[in-house]
Amino acid sequence: MPAIRNVLLWCSENEWLKNHIPRYRFIKKAVKKFMPGESASDALEAARKLKGNNIPAVFTRLGENITSLLEAYNTTGHYLKLLEDIGNAELDGEVSVKLTQIGFDLSAEETYKNLARIALKSAGMNKLVWIDMEGSGYTGATIDFYERIKKEHPNTGICIQAYLYRSAEDLERLMKIDANIRLVKGAYKESEGVVYKSKQKIDENYFNLAKVLLNRIKQNGIRGAFATHDLELVNRITGEAERMGIDRNRLEFQMLYGIRTNDQKMLAARGNRMRVLISYGESWYPWYVRRLAERPANMLFVVKNIFK
Ligand SMILES: Cc1cc2nc3c(=O)[nH]c(=O)nc-3n(C[C@H](O)[C@H](O)[C@H](O)COP(=O)(O)OP(=O)(O)OC[C@H]3O[C@@H](n4cnc5c(N)ncnc54)[C@H](O)[C@@H]3O)c2cc1C
Repeated sequence: MPAIRNVLLWCSENEWLKNHIPRYRFIKKAVKKFMPGESASDALEAARKLKGNNIPAVFTRLGENITSLLEAYNTTGHYLKLLEDIGNAELDGEVSVKLTQIGFDLSAEETYKNLARIALKSAGMNKLVWIDMEGSGYTGATIDFYERIKKEHPNTGICIQAYLYRSAEDLERLMKIDANIRLVKGAYKESEGVVYKSKQKIDENYFNLAKVLLNRIKQNGIRGAFATHDLELVNRITGEAERMGIDRNRLEFQMLYGIRTNDQKMLAARGNRMRVLISYGESWYPWYVRRLAERPANMLFVVKNIFK
């Protein structure tokens, strides 16, 4: 399985494939499992349905490493309009943004201005904005950026990846500024010198980082969200939270649209906070192939759609 995962992660970064694969109809059909559609209205409609099960949403428009500041500015405008639509539809929805989607490869200053606009709009609606974590080449700069923006815009949160060796130190540093944290395992192609490779080690590190977050959640210091579909980890974290006397309704899990839907409903029904991240947009290729890499069995959906 690790070999297939590596090939898929390589595919997710390949420019030729990125330009050609999305043209195939059977691939587009398979993508539907993880993405309600390419437009914001498709995502809003999916959020409306989740609301029926008491599950709020996080929205992210797919796209990364944009190459012009005009594109970054337009993406920012898109998120501002989306927040407006979320408000009008009376949905509990936040947004999650990749810094390279709003100009980080081109200008940190412009990226700051763009994210500040989204944060300001979100603050007016009493919402938090999440910053995704991208490949390890961006980790340090993303954390520096977050430290800066958190001072001026406390309604921001950052993602931390448990597969990185450095994350324990990063989390310690971030706890000093009461960072809001979304904890994930990590989705990118990384080398051995940077990340734990075995599932067991990643899971152990996830749980250790989760305990740091639980301590701060207990003190009411931060918003911490455990973003994983790993039910064993969900159970370990739930057990630890109970042991620490943290109420269920203060324990937040996040999952991706289309993955473990029944468990999402179960967690919401039993009184945990459960939020689902809904991705949409035309630039879905690298993101979708990372989802296949997480579970190569998902390739079966692609194959089935060839014959449909
Ligand atoms: C809300 C949210 C935000 C995220 N943000 C980021 C981010 O900013 N940066 C980043 O690097 N990563 C991000 N990720 C992705 C994350 O890093 C993992 O790659 C992803 O969540 C899979 O890991 P897992 O914790 O579910 O555990 P795994 O050990 O990968 O999976 C546990 C089980 O969950 C199920 N499962 C997991 N993935 C899939 C899938 N694709 N299809 C079907 N079943 C699956 C399987 O049953 C699997 O056995 C995010 C994930 C979530 C849920």
